[in-house]
Amino acid sequence: MGFSLYIHIPWCHAKCPYCDFNSYAASVWPEDRYVDAIVAELTYRAAQAPWRGNSIATIFFGGGTPSLFAPQSIARILDAASRWWKIERDAEITLEANPGTVNGEKLAGMRAAGVNRISFGAQSFNPAILKFLGRIHSAEDTREAARMAHRAGFDRLNLDLIFAVPGQTTDDIRADIDAAVALGPDHISAYNLTFEEGTPFFSDLKRGRIRQLPSDDQAAMYAMVRMELPRRGYAMYEISNYAAPGHEARHNLTYWRGESYLGIGAGAHSFGRIGAAGRRWWNERSPGRYMDRTLHAGLAEAGSEVTGELTAAGEFVFLNLRLLDGFALADFSRRFDRGFNEIFGAQAIKLVADGLLINQDGRVRLSDRGLELADSVFAEFV
Ligand code: SF4
Repeated sequence: MGFSLYIHIPWCHAKCPYCDFNSYAASVWPEDRYVDAIVAELTYRAAQAPWRGNSIATIFFGGGTPSLFAPQSIARILDAASRWWKIERDAEITLEANPGTVNGEKLAGMRAAGVNRISFGAQSFNPAILKFLGRIHSAEDTREAARMAHRAGFDRLNLDLIFAVPGQTTDDIRADIDAAVALGPDHISAYNLTFEEGTPFFSDLKRGRIRQLPSDDQAAMYAMVRMELPRRGYAMYEISNYAAPGHEARHNLTYWRGESYLGIGAGAHSFGRIGAAGRRWWNERSPGRYMDRTLHAGLAEAGSEVTGELTAAGEFVFLNLRLLDGFALADFSRRFDRGFNEIFGAQAIKLVADGLLINQDGRVRLSDRGLELADSVFAEFV
């Protein structure tokens, strides 16, 4: 099986007040130099295990706003990747896009460059909520972007939605779901808004300028999303992800299954499996330092750690538990040479007794209640 390649493009037109990604507001950005740095890092990694001689199963351009880049830049990166690796014939190649940054020509250029899946950050179709979220696009931009993507030949289209925004109601979310489904995506991600430390929303919350929805309301919204999207043909397969049958995001499945992925670009993280254990590393977050170091030495690692077998086993559990069908006990034993119940029996018994975990028929997965309290379940395996 090939590996997954992630490419980080760190610039955005404006910084959304809830965003804690490694992204920077800019009106100009050093696109050619950054692509040179990406190509240099790809070249360096191509000579290393476990990437050397392997093939690529999925590629994901994330950010930031990768759709700010010209199709020629994306094509240069894909060309460089195909120089060093075989890109599998059915490889999933996704590009994240802000609906306010595309037109028909750009989307056609991305398709011609080899991108075959577009992911639009729609977030909402309600103008007041889009404004509150600091988004630069309108609901009409999203509608037009989805139409243009279909016309450009993208039959794989994801729309991101956000729920539990202060002031939002369940009717608002239902309307957002209807508006998203009407655009014919094959995949919808619906995220619960979080208030991450260091973001403007976090300080607004601390200073009492905004108030989080009560947790019961948030749980009711999540339950509604979990019911409404499957009723419209999008089966839930992960805590926040829903897809038409067979259209799950293969790139993200790599992360949730604990497989190897190579992250290239400022602040990108990578994980390379070494037997049952693994090594993870992460790059310089600052685009300037990333470019300087990579163009000089071919890489810009800022830190790394070796994950021992027990830590890797815990990670395997909480990553796989994000998936609705969890994991097979046999897969766990094959990978770690020991049974799940042997290592995590005490945690499993407690979580099953609390009604959060289901451990039966050779599989372990979250219950409905476990989905709502997923973070506290995952904490048991860290
Ligand atoms: S567009 Fe996306 S990456 Fe950029 S600031 Fe907004 S949420 Fe963050």
